[in-house]
Amino acid sequence: MESPNIPIAIDPDTGIWSTNGLPMIYMPRHFFVNAHLSAETALTEETYSHHLYAAGHKSAWVWCEKESQAHRFTGLDVFRHYIQSISQRGGGKFTVMALDESSGAADISLKHSVFVEHCGTNGGRNLCYMYSGWFAGALEWVGQATSHCYSLNSYEALCAGNGAEQCLFKIRPR
Ligand SMILES: [Zn+2]
Repeated sequence: MESPNIPIAIDPDTGIWSTNGLPMIYMPRHFFVNAHLSAETALTEETYSHHLYAAGHKSAWVWCEKESQAHRFTGLDVFRHYIQSISQRGGGKFTVMALDESSGAADISLKHSVFVEHCGTNGGRNLCYMYSGWFAGALEWVGQATSHCYSLNSYEALCAGNGAEQCLFKIRPR
């Protein structure tokens, strides 16, 4: 079994975990998914996914800003570093299948999504919309950093929880 290959620091006084100065939380998958499903039930998927998209977009933007400063990465290298990093945190294995530097359009596949692993493959709907905003946020950060000014929309086109072989996110210009 591999150990995490991201640096994890734990403050001995406060117990706070962090990676490259960014506070992180380690939690059981069932708690994370149950909390997600509970919020979805309370708000409806339509409302919840809309707010989650904005939260994910903002968080990816902040992460890219911090990590580009920490590592002095620039441009699409920050995005590739982001995809690698989120694949190392247990949420699933993300792979960039296609990426168009001129428009910011991208296809990203996902295997072993926490939502599919928890809920199974017969969900009858796409389960992993929590991730959609992340890709638009990270790529739009790259766009503003490279003067491309991408304006993107991101959605889960195929989901392994809904009959597909793997999950697939499409990120397209608005
Ligand atoms: Zn999915």
